Amino acid sequence: MASAPRLFLPNKIGRLLLLSLEEIVGHNGLNAVLNVAGVAQHISSLPPNTLDRQFAFDDLGHIHQALDRLYGVRAGRGLALRTGRAAFPHALREFGPMIGLTELPFRLLPLHMKLKAGLEGAAGILNRLTDQTVHLEESPDAYRLHLDVCPLCWERRLDQPGCHLAVGFFQEGLAWMSGGKNFLVEETECIARGDQACVLRIVRQPLD
Ligand SMILES: [Zn+2]
Repeated sequence: MASAPRLFLPNKIGRLLLLSLEEIVGHNGLNAVLNVAGVAQHISSLPPNTLDRQFAFDDLGHIHQALDRLYGVRAGRGLALRTGRAAFPHALREFGPMIGLTELPFRLLPLHMKLKAGLEGAAGILNRLTDQTVHLEESPDAYRLHLDVCPLCWERRLDQPGCHLAVGFFQEGLAWMSGGKNFLVEETECIARGDQACVLRIVRQPLD
């Protein structure tokens, strides 16, 4: 069987994810993770802050996996969630203006419209700038964000959904949009577990 073509994220996203990971595990921790992930080329220089698609899905999948290998599955999950949360402010600064998230009209929308606009904006960015395909499905109680290919679990095999970084990222994004409320975000399906897509379920009603 011919091997599938490699897929890529823009350098800018790889860079902000590595900076976020460094905030959580420290400089030495980041270097250890990159070594274990087999992507030591990222140690000496972070990806440049450009939109060129040169940060490989397999590199990110191996980095996410290295958290589990280095710190154990439970602690690795916590670190990935926290890295995702830490990534949101970076992403907001880099991409928020592109989709109007930081403009006054967005801030004045009612909460339910903000959430929808924010999630659609995030899906649009991923579809336009990465090799991912993403779509948002709505039901009365929840949103479902479908990621048809997913760099976080690329080439991984898991018993449970494992794209914790994405869960943390959206938890933080929803908290920001709602002025600090907590929302239930869970990955209900995961390609690494054999599902068709990675699916993040976001319950519309905040927990608090
Ligand atoms: Zn997944």
